[in-house]
Amino acid sequence: MSKILVIGHQNPDTDSITSAISFSYLQNALGKNTEAVALGAPNEETQFALDYFKAETPRVISGASNETREVMLVDHNEFQQSVPDIEELTILAVIDHHRISNFHTATPLYYRAEPVGCTQTIILKLYKEHQIEIPSHIAGLMLSGIISDTLLFVSPTCTDEDIKAAQELAKIAGVDPEKYGLDLLKAGTNLSDKTAEELISLDAKSFEVNGKKVRVAQVNTIDYMDIFSKKAEIEAAISRQVNDNGYNLFLLVVTNILDSDSRIFATGSSAQVTEQAFGIKLENGEAFLKGVVSRKKQIIPQLTEALSN
Ligand code: MN
Ligand code: MN
Repeated sequence: MSKILVIGHQNPDTDSITSAISFSYLQNALGKNTEAVALGAPNEETQFALDYFKAETPRVISGASNETREVMLVDHNEFQQSVPDIEELTILAVIDHHRISNFHTATPLYYRAEPVGCTQTIILKLYKEHQIEIPSHIAGLMLSGIISDTLLFVSPTCTDEDIKAAQELAKIAGVDPEKYGLDLLKAGTNLSDKTAEELISLDAKSFEVNGKKVRVAQVNTIDYMDIFSKKAEIEAAISRQVNDNGYNLFLLVVTNILDSDSRIFATGSSAQVTEQAFGIKLENGEAFLKGVVSRKKQIIPQLTEALSN
């Protein structure tokens, strides 16, 4: 019997990689034969967490049907964000905290979605429901996922459950969540050796809204100038992607993790829709979004609404 692969989304973030690890560990403890894999190499922030807790980096795959028939998805459900051959595979389980869209299966499955700030918060509940003990390095990775997704508990997606889960996991992992958390987030803002192309692809997701192709890339920083000083290069890289992939809108969201604000840069034939979506005026394609840090809660719903009019 081939292994069941546990997979997070493309351009994986810390939640996607660590949730694949923690959910695979739980499934194996329950007698399944699974392996956590990733649809891309870990980013700097995720690598910091993996190194800190001395965890193995999941194997990177570009397809799954060549080695297995069965997969479990964590931290996503939309097919265009999943492994490219997802339609040829049987999805046994989904653990997620995003909107449900472009998803269907031919057979029954386990599906657990909760509107919490991080997949790991749901996975912690599953450990408890099955009474499986969490090893300290897994707890550390789970904590890292929560810190990353909630930007250290300030994102509007963060719930009381996430904060409680993080406190509990920090205790098992033996770290101070605030101190470790800031170190983790700062590790993710080290982008000095990244090309413009890499910057706009690190954490980018595609959406289809009312027949329009939308790409939203998010980059965390502690200084906007780290990114906007390279605007010409970034603009050129975005234009290439818009032309190559036919995006109607490419939105780059640069989030300041210390101030919890974002600057956006909108490109594409539908770029103007961002003015209506966020109640702003674009200047040279740019605008400041006060208090906006969450793509899933403060960007995608607003764009969906504006594009549907
Ligand atoms: Mn994610
Ligand atoms: Mn997540």
